[in-house]
Amino acid sequence: MRKQIAAANWKMNLSLQQANELLDKIVSKNIVLSKNHEAVFGVPFPYLLLAKDKVKNNEGFFVAAQNCYTKESGAFTGEVSAAMLSSLQIKYVIIGHSERREYFSEDNFTLAKKVDVCLKNNLKPIFCCGESLDIRENKTQNKYVETQLKESLFHLDSLLIRNFVIAYEPIWAIGTGKTATAEQAQEMHEHIRNVLSDKYGNEIAESVSILYGGSVKAGNAKEIFGKKDVDGGLVGGASLNASEFVEIIKSLKS
Ligand code: PEP
Repeated sequence: MRKQIAAANWKMNLSLQQANELLDKIVSKNIVLSKNHEAVFGVPFPYLLLAKDKVKNNEGFFVAAQNCYTKESGAFTGEVSAAMLSSLQIKYVIIGHSERREYFSEDNFTLAKKVDVCLKNNLKPIFCCGESLDIRENKTQNKYVETQLKESLFHLDSLLIRNFVIAYEPIWAIGTGKTATAEQAQEMHEHIRNVLSDKYGNEIAESVSILYGGSVKAGNAKEIFGKKDVDGGLVGGASLNASEFVEIIKSLKS
């Protein structure tokens, strides 16, 4: 079975003290994950090592960065390279979150470069895609997401695609409290899997975990994660609350 993943995206939130407390509370619940489950903590750069240390005794718990730069190293003040992240021995990097696309003008081709540096440095991208409300209202969301995947990922060979996690995050559902229905999520996830299958074959398409993101909460996670092609979630707001996120982790399907 594909990996089922509950991934937290803290975004630019929490002080060091608050980060400590939140991780302590989650770890204190002594969650025992089954073999095909993972809990991932996408924390701000300054808290990566703290998070890694806090979850080190929890089997299946991993840490993610929320971004990296396209270049390997050099005079790029303020940026963080994939090589630096790799030297921290973290597992994942969130790439192409809609907030990066919107506020930092990251387009599909820039994201292709980020994907490349991650893979080169043995980091697994959690690659985000998803449409805005006007695209959904025009009913062109399938084509739009397909283009995002093609332009950022389809230069990769099939061995590398196996290392991916894809997060489908309809922009109209992020931080809005408005969740896609479980059926809408399943429909898009199936489409994404078909797009992967057309390019890389069915076996590879079936092996890639596709997460849903957009106002996932303890109250709706089970229904959404229960769908056939939904392999867990990328969770913003609700991941900042220990008991909510713990419930979300427990909602992964077995
Ligand atoms: C996200 O940040 O990726 C996200 C899905 O946020 P939220 O859960 O708050 O909608």
